[in-house]
Amino acid sequence: MDALQGSLRSLFGLDEFRPSQREVVEDVLAGRDVLCVMPTGAGKSLCYQLPAAMRKGLTIVVSPLIALMEDQVQQLRDEGLAAEMLNSSLPMAEQRRIAGELQRGYEGLLYVAPERFYASGFQPILKTLRPTFLAIDEAHCISQWGHDFRPEYARLGEARRLLGDPPAIALTATATDDVRQDIIRVLGLRGPSIFVTGFDRPNLLYESRQVPNGREKESQLLALLRQEPGSGIVYCATRKTVDAVAGTLAAALPGRPIIPYHAGLDAAERTANQERFMDAPDAVAVATNAFGMGINKPDLRLVVHYNIPGTLEAYYQEAGRAGRDGLPARCTLLFSYQDRYTHEFFITKMAEGNPDADPADMEARQQHAMRNLDLVIQYARTHRCRRQMILEYFGEAREVTECQCDFCRRGQDISPKALAHAIPLPVEVVTLVRQILSAIARLHGKFGIGVVAEVLAGSQSERTMRWGFDRLTVFGLLRAYSSKRIVSMLHRMMEAGLARQRDLVGVKFRPVMELTAIGIAVMKAEQPVPATLIDLLPRRSDRTNDGDNRPAKGNGASGATIVRQADKEEPLSPEQSRRFERLRTARMQLATDRQIPPYCICHDSTLRSIARLAPAQLQDLQFVKGMGPRKIGQYGQTLLDAMREDEPAEQTP
Ligand code: ADP
Repeated sequence: MDALQGSLRSLFGLDEFRPSQREVVEDVLAGRDVLCVMPTGAGKSLCYQLPAAMRKGLTIVVSPLIALMEDQVQQLRDEGLAAEMLNSSLPMAEQRRIAGELQRGYEGLLYVAPERFYASGFQPILKTLRPTFLAIDEAHCISQWGHDFRPEYARLGEARRLLGDPPAIALTATATDDVRQDIIRVLGLRGPSIFVTGFDRPNLLYESRQVPNGREKESQLLALLRQEPGSGIVYCATRKTVDAVAGTLAAALPGRPIIPYHAGLDAAERTANQERFMDAPDAVAVATNAFGMGINKPDLRLVVHYNIPGTLEAYYQEAGRAGRDGLPARCTLLFSYQDRYTHEFFITKMAEGNPDADPADMEARQQHAMRNLDLVIQYARTHRCRRQMILEYFGEAREVTECQCDFCRRGQDISPKALAHAIPLPVEVVTLVRQILSAIARLHGKFGIGVVAEVLAGSQSERTMRWGFDRLTVFGLLRAYSSKRIVSMLHRMMEAGLARQRDLVGVKFRPVMELTAIGIAVMKAEQPVPATLIDLLPRRSDRTNDGDNRPAKGNGASGATIVRQADKEEPLSPEQSRRFERLRTARMQLATDRQIPPYCICHDSTLRSIARLAPAQLQDLQFVKGMGPRKIGQYGQTLLDAMREDEPAEQTP
């Protein structure tokens, strides 16, 4: 054990330094200027308290929050260290006592609220003080880009000069580059050592799900909460949303404590709700960002953002309340692009709230707020590691490994669940997939693909009537589609791993169809629909193609969500259809290998054109719409090879 560690033990009773604490302390002891950026709870205080306790002389700590100041001073005194504070909440007699102490050469820590520096009574004393060093806590208050800008903080450079320009350490949990530059400039830090550390939270499973509308958000949220029995927070942008979501959850999850929290509730109710939340191990708080400050529930397993926050920093703070015990916890952002407009509305209203502000200044702040918002949206939509993106945002130079974010899980595992996260699926496709899966489920794994298709098509065949299938709620859900199209969709469910065929013992050639475990989860909206199904919905009617002469029934009300266009194309011949199916299989393989949705390889219409043209050579593909030179180079040969393959055996149930 070296001397520094010895002091850590003897003065603070702690065994080990946390990451970077030692280096910061060494630099402070060496008299260097330091900027220390660490998240809340990382242990910033020790970085100045230990050097203060180890050295003779006065250390001045500037801190904006009187309550925090009181706590810290009390804790230090409990450790037997000299600590005083000076702020406006103290009785005059106490303020005079401290002033007297200072004049007599007090040695130890002195916590000061920034406005004290400018109080006329304190100025003369201030000029006589020669602190060993100056610590500025919550230093982001210096910058007007920070969320807590305080004008008294902006003058701390002046105060530092009055104190004889001592070395300074600035500490904050906020550190976008512009805020950092402001801190350095305003305080006049000289070639400071900059430490950015502690933002990595490897136990958090960051994920973002793009959801098209409020209803889908609700169902995703319910699925998340059903999956996770532990305690969680659901953050919403407005009080109105809090009330609505809390109401929905309370109705859908009876027995689970659902606890609303926002600034519109009266103080007593807020306190009671907070206590209920702290006490119940399965409680879910539905809250605005007013909730969370000072909440320490280390075993929170889930933080869902029902709406995007305005900055990535706010997201990090709020999501970061999950998993403080170090065990895996999930941080899910339910992203819907419309949420952007709520923030934009508030940003445009900023000027109204500050009528005295300089217009140019206001415009700069609004632009800054917009950039922050764009970053959150970038985070929500990124196709790269979310944990890495957060570290880069804070400026922590560290390569993320073994990440559990949705993107990284997708990299290691191309299960439909993993694939689905990064790519938004149209709501029609999501509905369609769930309808198809429900039909498979309703037939309880007792019937083949043909019967499932008949039920979905609402076909009044002898067997559907005999079994009374016309009374099932799923009967005719897909009556807008031909039987052939429905059979093809059922095959897609199998390709995507949501369903499978199984041979019944003793029954030859009659495989039955059933859901896989993933299929069940997708049906119940516990898992998202795999992105590979993005092109499930046909662009054109195929009803004219397949000789299906069913009379159109009613107005197809249950299938009414499905948008269709008239088929203007010539139907494919049987041979062309088989080529088309082989091309689709090849496209699926290409898409799976590259982890991109099939439509990014090429559209169905392109495959149909290839199937019609049946090009003999690679260069003939240039005549196909949708096949540019790049695509021909990347995929052309694979597609041609697949098209020419021998016909596979027909799979009929
Ligand atoms: P911050 O100011 O970064 O939000 P604090 O300085 O309040 O965080 O520290 C958070 C907690 O971590 C405190 O309870 C503190 O005692 C504890 N702590 C700090 N450093 C260490 C350490 N090296 N070992 C153990 N606990 C520590």
